[in-house]
Amino acid sequence: MALLVVGSVALDTITTPAGRAEETLGGSAVYFSLGARCLDQVRMVGVVGPDFPVSEKQFLADRGIDTRGLTTGQGPTFRWEGVYGQDFGDARTIRTELGVLASFQPGLPEEYRTTPCVFLANIDPALQLDVLDQMEKPRWVAVDTMNLWIDQQREKLLEVLARVDLVFVNGSEARQLSGRRNLFEAAAFVLDRGPRFAVIKLGAAGAMIFVGDAPFVLPAYPLGSIVDPTGAGDTFASGMLGYLAGSGRELDFDAMKTGLAYGAVNASFAVGDFGVSMLRTLTREVVESRLAYFLSTNQLPAGAR
Ligand code: AMP
Repeated sequence: MALLVVGSVALDTITTPAGRAEETLGGSAVYFSLGARCLDQVRMVGVVGPDFPVSEKQFLADRGIDTRGLTTGQGPTFRWEGVYGQDFGDARTIRTELGVLASFQPGLPEEYRTTPCVFLANIDPALQLDVLDQMEKPRWVAVDTMNLWIDQQREKLLEVLARVDLVFVNGSEARQLSGRRNLFEAAAFVLDRGPRFAVIKLGAAGAMIFVGDAPFVLPAYPLGSIVDPTGAGDTFASGMLGYLAGSGRELDFDAMKTGLAYGAVNASFAVGDFGVSMLRTLTREVVESRLAYFLSTNQLPAGAR
């Protein structure tokens, strides 16, 4: 089942304890597409400015991503700058320049509208709703967001939550959204807003998925060295949703548990080097071989695989 993503396409400037990268290819839709294309057919919706390198647009298409929904608007490409502290925890945003994203009105190519699986990656919730309104009865919809939108577009975001099956948030976003310190209470708050499943990402500590009040927890993929956590959340979602859409499995708790393992594995390819470096050449074989190792160190419950 094909997978449609709407999100940012960016030029990122990133500083981590391991170094700095300037104006490097990024954005939630880019990380997601580069991760998910190894597991399923991906259709991308986004916008860049005329300043976006032609070679990068070509690169995305060459990787097999359907970029018919990636348009060129008038104005600068979206730019984001973030800095990470010694613990490689949540990024501190230094600069967000929406550029072409500020006036983006996604008009979906006709063939995109019947795509069965949809990921509303991190972008203004008003745009997420815009895309959702154009879809014809998707089988399932998942969403991701960030602190900026929880802060500035809370009502719109709650509207989105009421219309999706699965939500991704990290621990601090779950607390910010719910106003609860305790993550179990925060997950209950999110699920009360409508989605069937909530994934709370905990960085190096792994991720939890909640259905009702039943949680399931998986650690992160064990990596000796982390270089740049940017895109970890988007590539986590790419592994999980790429697996779920590509396998055609129903969204049940067992399938979700396997999805979580694919998420952890894909995220490990985002954080091992700056920007999308490792994702540029990623293949399904490499994903599966890391997954096999990961599952040899973490047993999934019977039924999950
Ligand atoms: P992640 O580290 O998975 O949360 O995602 C990092 C990506 O999110 C970066 O490549 C940024 O370009 C992108 N990003 C940062 N802020 C925003 C925003 N306000 N809207 C959309 N994308 C953003």
